[in-house]
Amino acid sequence: MAHEAVDRHAMGPLADRTALRWIARDGRIDEVSYDGLSRLSSRFAHVLGELGVERGETVSVLSGRTPELYVTVLGALKAGCVVSPLFSAFGPEPIRTRLAKGNTRVLVTTEELYRRKIEPIRDSLPGLRHVLLAGGTSSSPAALDLTRHMDAADDRFQIPPTKPEDPAILHFTSGTTGEPKGAIHVHGAILSHHVTGRLVLDLRPEDVFWCTADPGWVTGTSYGILAPLSIGVTSVVDEADFDPRRWYRILEEQRVTVWYTAPTAIRMLMRAGAGPRQGHDLSGLRFVASVGEPLDPEAVWWGAEALGRPIHDNWWQTETGGIMIANYRSMDIRPGSMGRPLPGIEAAIVRRDNGAVTVIEEEGKLGELALRPGWPSMFRGYLHDEARYRDCFSGGWYLTGDLARRDADDYFWFVGRTDDLIKTSGHFVGPFEVESVLVEHPAVAEAGAIGTPDPVAGEIVRAFVSLNRGWTGSPDLGLEILGFARRRLGAASSPKSVDFVESLPKNRAGKIMRRVLKARALGLAEGDLSTLEPEAARSYNP
Ligand code: ATP
Ligand code: MG
Repeated sequence: MAHEAVDRHAMGPLADRTALRWIARDGRIDEVSYDGLSRLSSRFAHVLGELGVERGETVSVLSGRTPELYVTVLGALKAGCVVSPLFSAFGPEPIRTRLAKGNTRVLVTTEELYRRKIEPIRDSLPGLRHVLLAGGTSSSPAALDLTRHMDAADDRFQIPPTKPEDPAILHFTSGTTGEPKGAIHVHGAILSHHVTGRLVLDLRPEDVFWCTADPGWVTGTSYGILAPLSIGVTSVVDEADFDPRRWYRILEEQRVTVWYTAPTAIRMLMRAGAGPRQGHDLSGLRFVASVGEPLDPEAVWWGAEALGRPIHDNWWQTETGGIMIANYRSMDIRPGSMGRPLPGIEAAIVRRDNGAVTVIEEEGKLGELALRPGWPSMFRGYLHDEARYRDCFSGGWYLTGDLARRDADDYFWFVGRTDDLIKTSGHFVGPFEVESVLVEHPAVAEAGAIGTPDPVAGEIVRAFVSLNRGWTGSPDLGLEILGFARRRLGAASSPKSVDFVESLPKNRAGKIMRRVLKARALGLAEGDLSTLEPEAARSYNP
């Protein structure tokens, strides 16, 4: 992986090309070339060797989006370690679970994160042998100084022979439907990253690419580190969090040509209105794509108008390691659809009956999305959960846990998670179709739909919405929104009640957690909340 992403270019004509252009919180810019990234990651590979870390052992990186994060992830891959990037906004407990599950030997973090999040849990992690701190160790004697070790290390490292099946990355899922699972990926996955980066994101070496995902989530690693580097592009990395004005400024000033972001960010930009966008020249953008949640048609068209480019939705999961289904640049977008399977990817809509899997050939029928396994970035297991891993496969298919429909032209349409499906008066309603309609109402910024028990209908659809600026929730507005939804969805699928909320419960990957909405609505236990975003961070009010 690290050879394909970095060293191959460092030895070739792209050696001096900027690999990463890093924008610090305060706006300072730091650049590193492919040659520079190769040398820095080599130093870190040596550091691991000197600490006695062996191949196959886990190195976790808990850091904001700083150059050290990218350098140490690539260095750990060079050394043959399994690297596990963790989201820096996690609290001590989610971090502890992940470090313990991954049996982490070495942790790279910063002094500040160490003091706040690691010190309180370090005693409970006997397997954690070394902690390296980027930016110094002034008051933490139990940790090592990353910079000092890096400075003392050689900047040339010979990557030992690596097999495609050697484990490379441990990524935890987003925890949208339950406790996060640790998915294991192998070095051969870089093939998928490279190919999908070219086919779906249309990346070419002359591009300036910005993937807004944090490497704590799989998108931030597969498409924030590996795919773009393997293609030789310049990647923009912003250390700061979402901010409409800052984001439009980055798109303009960095002359971003290809942009990969998520529906939650797009919805927030839509909600922020035209103000922050005014005066920005976004004409450098030539391709915009989105992943992580369904992208409603309204957002696709908003992109065409506001960014000058429609937004191309694509679908994949932590488990698939790379993009599987996409609206390609070369094809017409079908707004609301995830697109079509990639070349070499066989996708189908199936039904599970007592363990047997039947492919539903008929177009438009609802079923579970299944993929024929075998592509390089397919996960090779859930850490410590062999049974759950085995349950994902049946009849030669990998079962994704997502519900979808396929149309006559092989476009796939997301309906919901199998867990989120609503069964009302004998028919199924996918939350996404309800939510897509609700957000078309001018007052509605975001919407979540769930099913709650009903003695007559089995379940009824209940909606939760947050409002755009300038609107206030009232019984009249509620009735108006219900009527609006009913006219479009028909009586059977439309919500029977609407609740106004300040914001919807989301996880840190920005996904709406319908299971939390449901638990709250029913007064039940909320389950694993390790990835839930805290209230304070959520109350976004532009
Ligand atoms: P967990 O598995 O822990 O519940 P998660 O499924 O959200 O969390 P990820 O692997 O990060 O964890 O997300 C993959 C899921 O995100 C997909 O299975 C799908 O439900 C949803 N998703 C991703 N892209 C899209 C898309 N383009 N349209 C609709 N849903 C999407
Ligand atoms: Mg999942």
